[in-house]
Amino acid sequence: MKKEDCIFCRIAGGEIPSKTLYEDRDFRVILDLGPATRGHALILPKEHAENLYDLPEEAASKVLLLAQKMARIMVEKLHCDGLNLVQNNGEAAGQTVHHFHLHLIPRYVDDGQAINWKPGKPSQEELDATMKTIVE
Ligand code: 5GP
Ligand code: ZN
Repeated sequence: MKKEDCIFCRIAGGEIPSKTLYEDRDFRVILDLGPATRGHALILPKEHAENLYDLPEEAASKVLLLAQKMARIMVEKLHCDGLNLVQNNGEAAGQTVHHFHLHLIPRYVDDGQAINWKPGKPSQEELDATMKTIVE
C-alpha cells in the first residue's frame, strides 16, 4: 500500500523524480538530498511501512541483501574506505521521514563525520537486569 501523503512512497513509486542508483520490483535506492558524505544513499521499499517494526518479513529479509549489493558497488565505484548502515526508528532515534529507509553512508578517511555514541559504564548487575528485561 502507498500512502498518499508520504514523500518516500511518492519517490519510491517514481511520482517524484530522484537520483536513482538502483530499482527493482520491491525497492528503489536513491541519493540522499542532504548527504553525510559523497554517495550517501537510501534504500526505500516501494510498499509503505513506517519503520522496522512494521516492515513485512519478506522486505526485511531482502533489504540486507540489497544493502550488501549496493555496498559492494560503492566500494568499487566510489573507492570509499568504509561504509555505515544506519536505520532510524522513531523520533527519539532521529527518524524524520516515517517511511522505512536504510541509510548507506560511504565513509572516507578524514571525512569529518561521526556516527557515534558515548559508551555507558553499566555494572554487571545493571547488565543482568537489562538482559532479563529483554529475554524473559
Ligand atoms: P531519517 O532521519 O528519517 O533517518 O533520514 C531521512 C533522510 O532523508 C535524511 O538524510 C534526509 O536528508 C533525506 N531526505 C529527506 N527528504 C528527502 C527527499 O525528498 N529526497 C531525498 N533524496 N532525500 C530526502
Ligand atoms: Zn511511504
